[in-house]
Amino acid sequence: MYNTITAIATAHGVSSISIIRVSGDAALEIAHKISHLENIIPRHAHLTSLYNFNNELIDHAIMIYFAAPHSFTGEEIVEFQCHGGMIVAQEILDTITSYGVRLAEPGEFSKRAFLNGKIDLTEAEAISKLIEAKSVDAAKILAKQMKGELKTFVDESRDALLRSLAYSEVMIDYAEEDIPDDIMNSISTQLDALTEQIEQIVEASHRRRGLIEGFKVAIVGKPNVGKSSLLNALLSYDRAIVSDIAGTTRDTIEEQVRIGSHIIRLVDTAGIRESDDTIEKIGIERSLSSVKDADVIVALFDSSRPFDGEDAKILSILEAVEDKHIVVALNKSDLDRVFDITKLDAYEVLEVSAKKAFVKLTERLECLFDSIGEGEELMLISSRQIEAVNKAKISIEEAKVPLMNGELEFFSYHLQEAVKSISSISKPYDSEEILDKMFGEFCLGK
Ligand code: GDP
Ligand code: ZN
Repeated sequence: MYNTITAIATAHGVSSISIIRVSGDAALEIAHKISHLENIIPRHAHLTSLYNFNNELIDHAIMIYFAAPHSFTGEEIVEFQCHGGMIVAQEILDTITSYGVRLAEPGEFSKRAFLNGKIDLTEAEAISKLIEAKSVDAAKILAKQMKGELKTFVDESRDALLRSLAYSEVMIDYAEEDIPDDIMNSISTQLDALTEQIEQIVEASHRRRGLIEGFKVAIVGKPNVGKSSLLNALLSYDRAIVSDIAGTTRDTIEEQVRIGSHIIRLVDTAGIRESDDTIEKIGIERSLSSVKDADVIVALFDSSRPFDGEDAKILSILEAVEDKHIVVALNKSDLDRVFDITKLDAYEVLEVSAKKAFVKLTERLECLFDSIGEGEELMLISSRQIEAVNKAKISIEEAKVPLMNGELEFFSYHLQEAVKSISSISKPYDSEEILDKMFGEFCLGK
């Protein structure tokens, strides 16, 4: 029994169906004990009664047996699809553990799938991210990775590196003289192409990471322009303190809200302005850092008050940011306009009212996220993956110097490092620690 594990695989709450998974050598034996069925056919949905340890009826449910190795983990698996609600699922789980099966650790099913060669790390990570995907586009990207798109990139990159490596090994063994120019050029062209491809993937992953993690949207503007009101309007409930006193939103507040098919993370910043008040100052620093972290900045101006130095400060912040999307909105358009709108000529300004009408803003945001989601670019979905390709890129760059100088041993050393880094995306070389860390972050039952 000791190698057999179990967990409730569905969300822990009220639902119409819950799934309990058992994986390991004893899975089939458990299925017999709980269902009292004698003939259990692999990949067949058995509608059957389920009984607890004392042979009392628990539920009438679907039971499916996946024979090893044709299962998610590669082991014997039995799944029970019982009626929802935690009571039934918990009782089935208790029954399974009463027969000596142990509860799975978070991510243990996926870890077994990896160890049994059913999935590689890119696929495992895609599975784990899919659970939390923040948009339909993300789900599509992750589905492609589960089918091995990133694995293919890793394999092809490794092959390209190994080819260059093979060339140089041959040269080390046989060439007394200088390396012929054409061979050197062809190796360096290949490496440049790979570096460029890596740079593109890292750039696209950065630009599109919001699809998976949720786009970070920072709302900025001087005190009292209506940042908190807008946030509240978007959330349609009061989370931030709305007040007429300037500077009451002291801290930054983050909330998740759904716009179109995207879940976004909204940040309300304390008013960005110079201040002597230390608490306020901390707030301002946070605002600036939230701008740094954001994918999209919504800059608010107040239609009912004149353009002033604080507004100018906001504009200068907007001018300073790079590679971020900026949406400029003139708030309080329900009031008489005092604000000189020509100050915002550099932007396409949306006139909104946090109090009355802000649909223009949500539409603009939805368009923006949709356009970021378009395209077929390959994406790295975890910082682990990004670190690995960046390391590979550095090693490739380090390899090029000795290549030009004809120091082939050094060239070959750096290239081997690059191969290791690239390979680690799908299979880590210092496994145990990385695996525990990675799979430990998974949901229970995955
Ligand atoms: P913040 O300091 O930028 O977060 O601004 P608040 O959201 O606290 O709003 C400051 C004041 O402006 C509050 O009294 C709000 O009720 C008011 N306010 C915000 N948005 C609008 C709007 O669109 N129209 C009007 N008339 N008042 C608004
Ligand atoms: Zn506020």
